[in-house]
Amino acid sequence: MEKLLEQAADIIINSKLTLALTGAGISVESGIPDFRSAGGLWDRFDPAEYATITAFRANPEKVWEMLREMDDVVNQARPNPAHIGMGELEKMGRLHYIITQNIDNLHQAGGSANVIEYHGNASTLSCLWCGKKYKTEEKRNELPPRCECQKILKPDVVFFGEAIPGDAMNRSFELASSANALMVVGTSAVVSPVNTIPGIAKQNRAKIIEINKEHTHLTDSVTDVFLQGSAGNIISALVEAVKKNN
Ligand code: NAD
Repeated sequence: MEKLLEQAADIIINSKLTLALTGAGISVESGIPDFRSAGGLWDRFDPAEYATITAFRANPEKVWEMLREMDDVVNQARPNPAHIGMGELEKMGRLHYIITQNIDNLHQAGGSANVIEYHGNASTLSCLWCGKKYKTEEKRNELPPRCECQKILKPDVVFFGEAIPGDAMNRSFELASSANALMVVGTSAVVSPVNTIPGIAKQNRAKIIEINKEHTHLTDSVTDVFLQGSAGNIISALVEAVKKNN
């Protein structure tokens, strides 16, 4: 592991543009369950049934049972050493942008400023009918939360079947096309189209550092350095290795 950490640190130190692509796995140590691992929210609420825009439009009251539980979990979560370590790398000028699939705001809370939210952010709600926006915290005592026009509000997260916000998609594509290094952290990289980013970066000859608990389809295809384990431990060790070799 020591040797692999040094290889990863070298890649980061020699890169002019370093990105990270993060997923649910980076927030597991903050208490937010990911989709694929056993246990927690997603054993009771099948994402295919609850996280699609079709399901929301058809029965928003039912989907809000899941959203309320998810909001309770996300609202209590605090950044873990992985989020904080990435914030530190940014301040050191070694990590330039994070493209995250997460909607939990924990990168910003962990000290990162340059965060592209590919799937939106759960801290605001919008009315699909009149367009009015609310802070999620203002509506925590309503189930389901309603707009002043009485329609049920939707969190500003991208449900399966919804379009990705254009600016997040375009910016991520541009950055991936010119990056020298990409850290892939805590994602199974199966959700499309965000999972095209590692391949786009690789085409630009970026070096890919993957940090995941388990192997993914990236590990034996595009990954150059695979650091297997929990993101908190590994990112903390990586920050130290970058500082040592800086
Ligand atoms: P995923 O659940 O498909 O994959 C998680 C990956 O993280 C797996 O490879 C797993 O081995 C790894 N992992 C688990 N715990 C880890 C840890 N402690 N350290 C390092 N790696 C760990 O997640 P995904 O690829 O992000 O896809 C899920 C989708 O659902 C995403 O689109 C995301 O937007 C959404 N989601 C977000 C949150 C959140 O905001 N925190 C939570 C659940 C789901």
